[in-house]
Amino acid sequence: MQLLDGKLLSQKIQQQIADEIILRKNAGKKTPHLAAILVGDDGASQTYVNSKVKSCDKAGMESSLLKFESSISESELLNEVYKLNESKEVDGFIVQLPLPKHINAEKIVNAISPLKDIDGFHPVNVGNMVKNLPCFVSATPYGILLLLEEYKIQTEGKHCVVIGRSDIVGKPMSILMSRNAYPGNCTVTLAHSKTKNLSEICLQADILVAALGKPEFVKKEMVKSDAVVIDVGITRLNDASKKNGFRLVGDVDFENVAGKCSYITPVPGGVGPMTIAALMKNTMRAVEQSIK
Ligand code: NAD
Repeated sequence: MQLLDGKLLSQKIQQQIADEIILRKNAGKKTPHLAAILVGDDGASQTYVNSKVKSCDKAGMESSLLKFESSISESELLNEVYKLNESKEVDGFIVQLPLPKHINAEKIVNAISPLKDIDGFHPVNVGNMVKNLPCFVSATPYGILLLLEEYKIQTEGKHCVVIGRSDIVGKPMSILMSRNAYPGNCTVTLAHSKTKNLSEICLQADILVAALGKPEFVKKEMVKSDAVVIDVGITRLNDASKKNGFRLVGDVDFENVAGKCSYITPVPGGVGPMTIAALMKNTMRAVEQSIK
């Protein structure tokens, strides 16, 4: 079994981006600028946004964190999105999800300019991804593709099972793995909460992507020998022995599954850091306006 080390690859990509930014600066070109909108005080969202902004700073990018009370109205938030769409400074931005219940997240996402939508959630980017046209690919699936590429994982003709059909992970992942490209060219099964015989389906997977948000759901008995297992899940479980009071657990029962796989991503240190690296790569594409 070999670990797919997302932490290491993420650091490597972030260093490459830092080098590119120095070259851009020396050439008098614009410094890339990522902005993040954070609404409310959800602990996990704060952690994710802070680490995204911190990573950008470290690589020499400009970054802005726009924080709003959870009482902000939908129209006020839409105005903030419009301002960022118009900003000459900001090249790309994200609106950290989830948003408070009184705000229609879809309306907010649809208001983001597709050219600044570095999370790749806007329907224009999703549509272009489906058609294999230039677009921003959603950061988590994009990060997984980068990881598969780095470790030269063979995907053509393989059976890839994706568990979870969310718009931000499962659905795009299933489409990307079925593209006529590398990584891609898999036969894909997209499983979800209504799927019957899930264990038998998972057992057929050469590549298994778990993105359902249920800690340690994927057991050894569900995994084929020598499968490649990608664990997207991140759940905070209370743990008094930890300084911050919790530990992060993936969707895969890592301890028992790892020995059966050819490759597996750890949690933490697998898909999570790759999401940040992918977001930063998208920001570089935004400043270069390469999807225009
Ligand atoms: P979500 O809740 O939007 O979607 C979960 C999906 O799993 C749904 O489509 C549902 O049908 C499916 N599902 C739920 N229970 C199931 C079951 N018992 N059997 C089969 N399918 C089932 O979740 P999401 O936003 O896609 O996130 C999934 C997990 O990935 C979460 O733990 C989240 O924290 C994590 N995540 C991690 C990153 C990262 O950077 N590593 C990024 C995004 C999400």
